[in-house]
Amino acid sequence: MTLHAPVTAAPNLRRLHAFVAAFGDVVDSEAEETAILSTGRTLLQDLIAVDDWLPSDYAQPDPVHYRQYLLHCDSRERFSVVSFVWGPGQATPVHDHTVWGLVGVLRGAERVESFRRDADGHLVAGEVEILRAGQVDAVSPTIGDIHRVTNADADVSVSLHVYGGNIGAVRRATYATDGTPKTFISGYANATLPNFWDRSK
Ligand code: FE
Repeated sequence: MTLHAPVTAAPNLRRLHAFVAAFGDVVDSEAEETAILSTGRTLLQDLIAVDDWLPSDYAQPDPVHYRQYLLHCDSRERFSVVSFVWGPGQATPVHDHTVWGLVGVLRGAERVESFRRDADGHLVAGEVEILRAGQVDAVSPTIGDIHRVTNADADVSVSLHVYGGNIGAVRRATYATDGTPKTFISGYANATLPNFWDRSK
């Protein structure tokens, strides 16, 4: 497996800072999920359009499992920003979020399988979509909240996710193939965060 480190210069953390600041403005000014997802999608598309800002510490794959690194959590936990790093063949279980979420691919490609639960609680498969670098998808309990994400690239893929809460601390569920839910709280792979608050330069 090649180590993905296209960033040789110091990462442009100002881009991440500007994104977080702009997203804070969105959750300040918009109460409706539809508006947050619409404006947030544009901000996320702009963020992932340029690959010069993600510090390599937050883009390291694990040999076995996909990883999720917290990059920022709003002080009131109204939103969090997370990098997901997928080695070849790695996938999530079928899971939900319980809050709105935006998923944008920075490197590689991801296969997103959507599901819903029928009246009996059984899983019903829906759309399958391939998201490529630069593309953004959305989830929420309103628009469809259950999916499975698989790395669709032969190499490492990286995606940037924004959620309407501190997603690593949210109690949510994975689903067995018969639709049986199992509670989980994902946590994060990292113990430290990128410092984009030193604005002295
Ligand atoms: Fe998800």
